[in-house]
Amino acid sequence: SEPKLEGFVPLYQSWESFYTRNMYRRVRDCWNRPIASKAGPYIDVLERKSEDHNWHLDITGKKLNVMNLGSYNYLGFSENTGACATSSIDSVSQAGVGVCSTRQEYGYSNIHKELDTVTAEFLGVEAAITFPMGFATNSMNLPCFMQKGCLLLSDELNHASLVLGSRLTGATIRVFKHNNIKDLEKKLKTAIIEGQPRTHRAWKKILIVVEGVYSMEGSIVRLPEILELKKKYKAYVYLDEAHSIGALGPHGRGVTDYFGINPKEIDIMMGTFTKSFGAAGGYIGGSKTLINYLKANSHSAVYSCSMSPPVAKQVITSMKIIMGQMNGNDGLRRIRQLAWNTRYIRRRLQEMGFIVYGNKDSPVVPVLIYYPTKVVALSRKCLAEGLGIVVVGFPATPIIESRARLCLSASHTPEMLDKTLELFDKFGTELKLKYSKKSRIAD
Ligand code: PMP
Repeated sequence: SEPKLEGFVPLYQSWESFYTRNMYRRVRDCWNRPIASKAGPYIDVLERKSEDHNWHLDITGKKLNVMNLGSYNYLGFSENTGACATSSIDSVSQAGVGVCSTRQEYGYSNIHKELDTVTAEFLGVEAAITFPMGFATNSMNLPCFMQKGCLLLSDELNHASLVLGSRLTGATIRVFKHNNIKDLEKKLKTAIIEGQPRTHRAWKKILIVVEGVYSMEGSIVRLPEILELKKKYKAYVYLDEAHSIGALGPHGRGVTDYFGINPKEIDIMMGTFTKSFGAAGGYIGGSKTLINYLKANSHSAVYSCSMSPPVAKQVITSMKIIMGQMNGNDGLRRIRQLAWNTRYIRRRLQEMGFIVYGNKDSPVVPVLIYYPTKVVALSRKCLAEGLGIVVVGFPATPIIESRARLCLSASHTPEMLDKTLELFDKFGTELKLKYSKKSRIAD
């Protein structure tokens, strides 16, 4: 019954996916062939074995038990036992699961208040506001800061939630090359020149939007240089720490901790609770005035129910553990273990001849595969031997830069890492993925 008009695209298909599908039909076909002939390459996680950080997967009918090197459980707090789980269970008996109200009405309990306070303390800023979803924290709050007549400078690899939020602002968006300070300065200079023939600034505000650790590249933002540009050109900085908070720096406080920068120098500190804290939701930290402004104006605060109490409790407990206020030095142990695991696996992969992107301290380790067809083969071989990794290709990466992405965790044991390396060594040779002739250590 669909109308047969030329150029008609069904509702459930966007132009891009229609185009991509046809272009990559061959790649998709090799996905489908050996494991799933009919149902497609979908993975259902049957059960999570938290104690040993593994997964039980059902890959279209095939039941597998795999090691998890694919999820962002950086500090291993996504456990079903231990202090975090116990505190969440207790909070259910105290406050239930859902609050059924926004924070401005009846959805702001003592637990939420504690979460805001602990988050501000953790970040080292004056105040913080928390939201039930990380994605919405970006997409719904950026429009509070920027409007038409403002200029938003966005790193080309910024996450989809930042891109969506930026578009919703109505501001002029200019994209600079990934982590490229020269290009950013060029764009800032242009912005200033644009104002010169006039008697007032061309742009009401200029906001530089960056991430702490980029999840496809494993690169760390060049924060010190960006802060210099911010001062020189009187711009503001919005920093998304989804992948760096908890995971980076000697105290796990993210990129500011890593570079030894006072967090108060960042105008808007954003992050999510879905990675290092093993929970859900997001936060914005900054000055008291900024946070009060958001409490009254953020769509995500005013029109959306506040966070589920057990989820909030999970975040509070994990933050307290990281800060050393609970469980002795367990937090520090996790931070150090993650840092060790990260450096170990990256160094060993490079010694084997793999090309690995990113910074040596990034818990995201992208291993370059280049060819889309090899991506499929590697993923399949790893799964068959009980190793769960994430493979990414176009459109998430440039066409010829397909990669496998390993996400390290403090929960990975040396045995798990060595098994992973053994499998990579074997499959890397079989699929000719060792492109680098000499071993190389990333900077
Ligand atoms: N920002 C970045 C940089 C992310 O990578 C993600 C998701 N991985 C988000 C925001 C959205 O966070 P969430 O998954 O918690 O909604």
